[in-house]
Amino acid sequence: MTKKQDPKSWQLATKLVRGGTRRSNFGETSEAIFMNSGFCYDSAETAESRFNGSAPGFVYSRYSNPTLAMLEDRLALMEGAERCCVLASGMAAVFASMMCQLKAGDHVVASRVIFGSCYYIITQVLPRFGIEYTLVDGTDLDAWKKAFRKNTAVVFVETPANPTLSLVDIAAVAKLCKKARACLILDNVFSTPLLQHPLKLGADLVVYSTTKHIDGQGRSLGGAVLGKQKFIDEILLPFHRHTGPAMSPFNAWITLKGLETLPLRVERQCSNAHAIAEMLEKHPKIARVYYPGLKSHPEYALAKKQMSHGGPMIAFEVKGGKKAAFRFMNGLNTIDISNNLGDAKSLITHPASSTHANIEAKERVKLGITDSLVRLSVGIEDIADLTGDIKQALAQK
Ligand SMILES: *Cc1c(COP(=O)(O)O)cnc(C)c1O
Repeated sequence: MTKKQDPKSWQLATKLVRGGTRRSNFGETSEAIFMNSGFCYDSAETAESRFNGSAPGFVYSRYSNPTLAMLEDRLALMEGAERCCVLASGMAAVFASMMCQLKAGDHVVASRVIFGSCYYIITQVLPRFGIEYTLVDGTDLDAWKKAFRKNTAVVFVETPANPTLSLVDIAAVAKLCKKARACLILDNVFSTPLLQHPLKLGADLVVYSTTKHIDGQGRSLGGAVLGKQKFIDEILLPFHRHTGPAMSPFNAWITLKGLETLPLRVERQCSNAHAIAEMLEKHPKIARVYYPGLKSHPEYALAKKQMSHGGPMIAFEVKGGKKAAFRFMNGLNTIDISNNLGDAKSLITHPASSTHANIEAKERVKLGITDSLVRLSVGIEDIADLTGDIKQALAQK
């Protein structure tokens, strides 16, 4: 069993190693993987009381499971949220957080620069169910104000945004949402759970792809929604339980182990990223660097206000367009070309031809996703190896 100390009194690093741990009667050190779909009851009466909720306990792993419950409790402790629900992937979390509460006739507002699949849900899936949307320039507070309508039910924000790392003022948008009684959903993947605390800034729900920094080692897909107990229990869980995007207990176990080392990895990723951003900014072959930790970032003041560090992600433009960007990426010897992010390994991608290729070219350029732009997810390798690799790749003709 867990020790007697109140887990909420622990500092973050301790919460991430010990929070939520439930030991079985064998007293195992590490969290156990409960790789079962169903549960048995010692009597028909026990089954009845579990189903009607009068007795605690698990009934089916699509609903919950001891390994999933450990992860949910640990993530809730980490975020300072009343409750967490884990799901099969980040997109399952984003989709469920919206669909569990939206109905035909509702209106959704979202920032224009968001993760490609989130963009697809809002612009392609929701309209099929009679749900309208408005996309706004996330950095323009006036545009946010003007976008609200009487029927605005959900506001979806990603900050820093993928891939341009532009920022949205969470507290300001949260204020507008409160006034309009709209639910503010904050996709907090790019800041990692450690650098930005959306619930404290007024967001109603935080969503994560645990696939990214939380697992952080490229092993498993997963997602999480965090918020108030009443919302999760009464609105999200019924939707989740009956539609089925359950996380595998094995992935939950991997994710639990990922959380243990999250602060160590993110700290290294952030210090590596800052050093690389500074190096790139001075490099003659780089046209522009987007990094929230640099004074040159358009929303540097806001980054200072709502983030505790510039973060582990960098975007930059290589002089010479797509050809030069591709030459640079192909010239890297250590850093891998991959659209994944948040990994211990540094990964680079060219958004215009991959993750954001589905956006029309003109619109892409308007969003800042030019053909020269590359996005670097910084890993935990030695900084000298990373800067050395980038410099030699930029030097190639
Ligand atoms: C990766 C990602 C998602 C989706 O998560 P999956 O686990 O891949 O489904 C959503 N939002 C952002 C910002 C992401 O980076």
